[in-house]
Amino acid sequence: MAFEFINDNLLVQKNASRYRQRVCIQQVNTDSPPQNTKIVMNGKTYINFSSNDYLGLNNHPKINQAMQEGIDKFGICSSSSNLVTGFNYAHKALEDKICEWLNKPRCLLFSSGFATNEAIFKTLGQTINQSKTHFFLDKLSHASMIDGAYASKASVKRFAHNNMAQLAQLLSLNDSPNKLIASEGIFSMDGDQAKLTRLEALTKQHNAWLYLDDAHSIGLIGNQGQGSSSVLKGDSECHIIMATLGKAIATSGAFLACNEVLHDYLINFARHYIYSTAISPAIAWATIQSIELIQQEKWRRDKIVELSQLFINELNGNIKIVPSDSSIHAIIIGNEQRSLEVSEKLKKQGLWLTAIRPPTVAVGTSRLRVTICANHNVNEIKLLAQCLNKALI
Ligand SMILES: *Cc1c(COP(=O)(O)O)cnc(C)c1O
Repeated sequence: MAFEFINDNLLVQKNASRYRQRVCIQQVNTDSPPQNTKIVMNGKTYINFSSNDYLGLNNHPKINQAMQEGIDKFGICSSSSNLVTGFNYAHKALEDKICEWLNKPRCLLFSSGFATNEAIFKTLGQTINQSKTHFFLDKLSHASMIDGAYASKASVKRFAHNNMAQLAQLLSLNDSPNKLIASEGIFSMDGDQAKLTRLEALTKQHNAWLYLDDAHSIGLIGNQGQGSSSVLKGDSECHIIMATLGKAIATSGAFLACNEVLHDYLINFARHYIYSTAISPAIAWATIQSIELIQQEKWRRDKIVELSQLFINELNGNIKIVPSDSSIHAIIIGNEQRSLEVSEKLKKQGLWLTAIRPPTVAVGTSRLRVTICANHNVNEIKLLAQCLNKALI
């Protein structure tokens, strides 16, 4: 039979409790106003603690209204790639909005965060006259960064998670002119933060560039939700910032913010940008409204901090939880099977918490990844902590 490995590989996953299946959500937001944290699956309603809608902006009436306005003005579809006739006023307005928000000269929109990461690593990862680009990636960087880096013509080094001493060592052994240090701002599966000040200092010292994937920080850090780089002061700089629009921003697509010349370079050489349909102009229009809400409504960020504190306080002291200053709270269980069992127990009590297993996380660190969102309420958080306390005895 052709492609026999398909069945073999699936069987391996099943035997290791790593087999993955999708679940189909029938309905979100069961109450009115339509902005709660409930999901309906197989006729049963659950409180969702696995969503990346950190700020609770999905289905916000103002964003929905902007979406409708965008459809009326520009249509749903861009009908072409950016370099043909796909780039229109809605895209330009969103790029300008992001530049102003992040204080960056230029911005480029991509169809997904995954495509953005692949694009940047592939286009910067060159070998020219035997001189290679060198990428230095935090070990816990997202799959799309790793795939992009290894698919490029660069040399790739990965330093242990947040280990600045190891990064300094690797950099000191390298005198290549083209070095890019890459990290997530807040790490997706652990919820901890990159050591930004240290990363920036090392970048400057070694004449490198700093690249931040702010998928889980955009909207959450900074007084206007500008993301991780807002902690940098004075003339310190993060050279390239990317973030998805599909998490806290609650629309779809992604952006990359950078200087003029890199922007120009990407428009000319990034294949994910050139050979792909421009994102929906209606979504771009809706995203501007979402960013305005993020800038104005600081209470959403404050609420996440408050509820996170409550959650930690309510949880039994012996439960192993990764220290976090974000929406993401990882409860490390260990093996795959036990994580699935705990997740099943919680489902019976109406709480949706997906077990995260290898290869998404390292072997032996299967976990429940709790996300606390601005639209959860105190009772939901207390219930979650109580159920976890019981399930993890
Ligand atoms: C979700 C995520 C991405 C991918 O973004 P999409 O827009 O969903 O493709 C990239 N990087 C990190 C760290 C992410 O968590």
